Amino acid sequence: MKPHLSRGTAKQDKLHRNMKVLKFGGTSVGSVKSILSLKKIVEAEARTQPVVVVVSALGGITDKLLATSQLALRGEERWKEEFDAMVNRHHQMIDTIITDDKKRVDLFNKIDQLFEQLRSIYYGVYLIHDLSEKTQAAIVSYGERLSSNIVASLLKNGVRMNSRDFIRTERKNGKHTLAAELTTQLVKEAFAPVCTKSDTNRTIAVVPGFISRDRTTGETTNLGRGGSDYTAAIIAAALDAEVLEIWTDVDGFMTADPRVIKTAYTINELSYIEAMELCNFGAKVIYPPTIYPVCIKNIPIKVKNTFNPEHPGTLIKDHIENDQKPIKGISSIKGTTLITVTGLSMVGVIGVNRRIFTTLALKGISVFMVSQASSENSTSIGVRDEDADAAVEVLNEEFKKEIETGAMFPMHAESGLATIAIVGENMKHTPGIAGKLFGTLGRSGISVIACAQGASETNISFVIDGRFLRKSLNVLHDSFFLSEYKVLNLFICGIGTVGGMLIEQIRKQYSELMDRNGLKLNVVGIASSKKYILDRDGIDLNTYKEQLAAQPLPAESLRDAIIQMNIFNSVFVDCTASSEVAGLYQTFLEHNISVVTANKIAASSEYEKYALLKDTALRRGVKFLFETNVGAGLPIIGTINDLRNSGDKILKIEAVLSGTLNFIFNEIAADVPFSETVRRAKEQGYSEPDPRIDLCGKDVVRKLVILTREAGYRVEQDDVVKHLFMPDAFFEGTIDEFWKNLPSLDADFEKRRQVLESEHKRWRFVAKMDHGATSVSLEAVDQHHPFYGLEGSNNIVLLTTERYKEYPMLIQGYGAGAGVTAAGVFANIMSIANI
Ligand code: ADP
Ligand code: ASP
Ligand code: MG
Repeated sequence: MKPHLSRGTAKQDKLHRNMKVLKFGGTSVGSVKSILSLKKIVEAEARTQPVVVVVSALGGITDKLLATSQLALRGEERWKEEFDAMVNRHHQMIDTIITDDKKRVDLFNKIDQLFEQLRSIYYGVYLIHDLSEKTQAAIVSYGERLSSNIVASLLKNGVRMNSRDFIRTERKNGKHTLAAELTTQLVKEAFAPVCTKSDTNRTIAVVPGFISRDRTTGETTNLGRGGSDYTAAIIAAALDAEVLEIWTDVDGFMTADPRVIKTAYTINELSYIEAMELCNFGAKVIYPPTIYPVCIKNIPIKVKNTFNPEHPGTLIKDHIENDQKPIKGISSIKGTTLITVTGLSMVGVIGVNRRIFTTLALKGISVFMVSQASSENSTSIGVRDEDADAAVEVLNEEFKKEIETGAMFPMHAESGLATIAIVGENMKHTPGIAGKLFGTLGRSGISVIACAQGASETNISFVIDGRFLRKSLNVLHDSFFLSEYKVLNLFICGIGTVGGMLIEQIRKQYSELMDRNGLKLNVVGIASSKKYILDRDGIDLNTYKEQLAAQPLPAESLRDAIIQMNIFNSVFVDCTASSEVAGLYQTFLEHNISVVTANKIAASSEYEKYALLKDTALRRGVKFLFETNVGAGLPIIGTINDLRNSGDKILKIEAVLSGTLNFIFNEIAADVPFSETVRRAKEQGYSEPDPRIDLCGKDVVRKLVILTREAGYRVEQDDVVKHLFMPDAFFEGTIDEFWKNLPSLDADFEKRRQVLESEHKRWRFVAKMDHGATSVSLEAVDQHHPFYGLEGSNNIVLLTTERYKEYPMLIQGYGAGAGVTAAGVFANIMSIANI
């Protein structure tokens, strides 16, 4: 929509062509450090050209002035303490920064006079319990009146100007708005003598921002919260300044609000249009009306950091050369209400929209988003929550007749929403932005309630549930590569051998992944069976154990706490063997949190539950990955899926899936009895802490069930035919009884082993699936069998498929161990990052 902003190229009124306007916000005058930095910046500039300095109130003072007036209004004595605190803060500042005795005394006199007036006003409010708009405006003006006196005294040759003499407002639709022409005239007159001097000792004009005077009544008014930026822009435009500099507390205009998006970074250059779109949608760094006056005069704006003056900041200007990025920034407005005007009579009726907007305008309600479907039977309007009731009331009144006849419905208002805008002039040359936008939100479980894109294509705005604001901003910032790296937020549950190893692997790989893959693995939650820590900024993996030890939270509430965090791109990683934890997956997937698990319980539980988990993940566009459930880090489940996805059919699976059992049957020998092999398996960490879980075949059954399901067959654990090698009685008593009784099996095993040896065979505990039929059994395999040479605790899987029929596919390797399992979990996490 560039053309309507016809910028002044003519060199008219170049009275002060070499002058600058510098505006310093609240934080830039809020502390001793920042105000001294201001002095340095301004005095350096003033050596080469005339400067006008516009200042805000000391940081936080405007809020304090308003809050104190409310205390006084309610008759609360506490207003006096608050007032004294404000006086003290100003006194302390002056004491520290003004070293010249005479200057300091003069300044104290001025400041104390202002405070005396202010105290009288507060006292009046307190006594008569009345706070008119006029009184409130008078009170709030003191912030800038005080700060400008301090800055003028601090600066060498500083001269304070009274902005109420030249910034004039008029009342329109119940609001104070700038009387633009009159103001321009008055500014020119006021500054003519100040800024034309060319000597090096020239005066520096110091102007209180924000405050103004009504052109008719003469009463003190203001330009709205954040209005000092506007004051500066008005002056810059009227004086045709070379540049308007907005000095604040961040390194410039950033891709998003840095308080919400940790990865937001400074935008080097922005066009006026982009800056305007971002500001209108809540980028607080510049007060929205600021841009227009300087834009039509083609005066560039620089946004700079008082605390880091060396940083180049952001340059806002007419046109950006070699602009590649389609999206420049994201901003948002909290507290949105969507009012929907709907009714069957609206279709094709000319004038409904005119009536809506005129009605709202007359009431002084601003509409920041409109969405109308082409069927024309409803129009949705975005207004601020605080305007919602009034808007509904006036619209119901306006359409009273139509509502009475039933041709239209009463206004429908939905509050508690938020509006987000993505902005960039290059969007119009890049197809697919809207698709990507809505796809990204959908995958994160965020539904869009209304949306609008103007034909200018520089802004796509949409309304969402306010609770999803932070998550939406983060996920969009991430997916549009506004960030330098992609973030994956991990909740790791279980810090035993596998979990502990995984955390260690992530810690070691962290920088490498950032540098090489542009991926930040942010561990935002760690839980043991008793405690957990959550930190959306990322937990320090060097000290997580100490942090966890100091944390009193019980783990029951973990699920709710994670969902409550509502964090974007998140993955729940289960390194436990707990059925309770497995029971949380469904809820996580429903909240668009991917699940990566080394825990077999969920995928081997009832088929319906397994199928629902997979289906939920698919519908929600997230992942449910459990590669390490079978064969630790070996690529078995992934391979089965790849084969099936490419149209192959899995006919048979034969496998040795228990590292523990394979170890036991490889160790058994004439001098190593069966009970001793079991003991060794436990000692060397191959078996479960309770080895009966391995020996009873349950672990293998679970794995076989998972593989069979992934191969496309419906199976339950009870369907698996089991041929075990130990009597059931061994699995029934206590673990101590088990260890005591175990040697009673040794003699029988030795007898059978001798027979086996004479036949040159070996034992393998084999899991089989044949066209969906499943079994597990201890088998004796001869030298020609591919399982014969399987060493140590290794696993092996033979896949017979339609394509791999004559020579089945073979996958073999370490099938157990914390390191390889953790690495397998890590690989699953990475596959999510690479989507
Ligand atoms: P000042 O007191 O200098 O006027 P403000 O508080 O009005 O400062 O504006 C600066 C603040 O705006 C920053 O500290 C930052 O938190 C916030 N902000 C919001 N959106 C953005 C953005 N896109 N870029 C930079 N800052 C932003
Ligand atoms: N002091 C005013 C405010 O806090 C104006 C400004 O800082 O721009 O809103
Ligand atoms: Mg501001």
